[in-house]
Amino acid sequence: MPVLPSSLPSREAFEAAGRRLYAAEAALFEARRPKSAAARDSGAAGFAGGVPMHWMLDWPMPFPMIVAGACGVHLTDIDGNVLVDFCLGDTGAMFGHGPAPVVAAMAASATRGLTFMLPSADAAPVGALLAQHFGLSHWQVATTASDANRFALRAARAVTGRSRILVFDGCYHGTVEDTLVDLVDGATITRRSLIGQVADTGLTTVAVPFNDVGALAAALADGDIACVIAEPVMTNCSMILPAPGFHAELRRLTRAAGTLLLIDETHTLSTGPGGYTGAHGLEPDLMVMGKPVAGGVPAAVWGMSEAVAARFALVRDREEHGHSGIGTTLSGSALQLACLRACLSEVMTGATYAAMLRQAGRIEAGLASAIAALGLDWHVARVGARLEVVFRARPLLNAADARAAALPEAERALHLMLLNAGFLLTPFHDMVLVGPMVTDDEADGFVAAFAAAAGRLRQAAEML
Ligand code: PMP
Repeated sequence: MPVLPSSLPSREAFEAAGRRLYAAEAALFEARRPKSAAARDSGAAGFAGGVPMHWMLDWPMPFPMIVAGACGVHLTDIDGNVLVDFCLGDTGAMFGHGPAPVVAAMAASATRGLTFMLPSADAAPVGALLAQHFGLSHWQVATTASDANRFALRAARAVTGRSRILVFDGCYHGTVEDTLVDLVDGATITRRSLIGQVADTGLTTVAVPFNDVGALAAALADGDIACVIAEPVMTNCSMILPAPGFHAELRRLTRAAGTLLLIDETHTLSTGPGGYTGAHGLEPDLMVMGKPVAGGVPAAVWGMSEAVAARFALVRDREEHGHSGIGTTLSGSALQLACLRACLSEVMTGATYAAMLRQAGRIEAGLASAIAALGLDWHVARVGARLEVVFRARPLLNAADARAAALPEAERALHLMLLNAGFLLTPFHDMVLVGPMVTDDEADGFVAAFAAAAGRLRQAAEML
């Protein structure tokens, strides 16, 4: 290994190096993908932007590679490139693509009818499994985590009779308008990237910095906040771990203010079969899980404590039935229930998580060693099977920290270098999700590819 100068290049040099390396890697990506390139050039007829969902254009790859298929943690594109998948559909396939019990449940469901807007026989076992995994007693099924959060917030407002909610700056809870805000110079404003928004979400939502107990206490003091919605570890603004004691304070303060606590475990389900909540003994009033909870089939769940469910039942009895703003036609379908049952009972097991956590630990240690060997002032943040590299030495405290630490160009270049080396990361801040089928060789190969890519980045930055 070359002897590296002890002082690091500037952040600007890393960014410029990132731009330069990205251009070279883009050429390699394209050369290996004539069929995907042809699809881009001909434009997939009928789709705006040539893709069925516009986020697919936001990857740090020159154009979307078209997937031929995926199995376990391997994904193959139509040009025959095979990748180890650490994105896993941005968590939808966290337990690997096509878990066998879920595939079997789908097949059985297909011949029995997919959707009735009536419960199937799987409803009772799924309710029991949810209570067993996550502790809360009363559950509802939605189709996306966005919807589940929207419904849970609506329930929280209904039972408390309060209109405002509190979020942590930098959060993402799906397309829930009320949560799409930013904290700018102490004011909560509608997130600038939100398209077509009319209502000023700053009027109904207050954002405070994560890990800031003082700001939280001040915001709750008026007693007009219906609900705090929080990821237990912030995973959508780089990765921000809770400071010691933060969750205990969050619970104490919300209880004192009569504010409900909604924990969104959609990403932190990477921690274990009961999510971060189960592993760390949190006591939420409401809980949301989406994405992988039915093994990749569109389904999400939201749960209520006994006390919230009792208050919710009163509201439901009081109001005129009809358009409640909660529930959608295909939610709670037989297909979803069958897949939830299979996933919760046969996939989300201790053994599956043990495999995920073992390899995540191996990768975390490997990346940390590579960072140290390269003399970089970066660190690895991790929540269970999910981890990412943060471009500064100290843990992040809040979103302002995360924004200051970001190196977007370097991040894009690392993403594409790793993709060209055979490893697919999540498009957003290069998040790594370690599925249960990852082998030692794949974990070590990924660490080696990261070391090589980060080394190239540093060397390119030195030369600027
Ligand atoms: N909650 C969290 C914490 C998320 O990260 C996301 C999506 N990234 C969602 C909710 C929304 O999930 P979906 O897009 O499946 O509705």
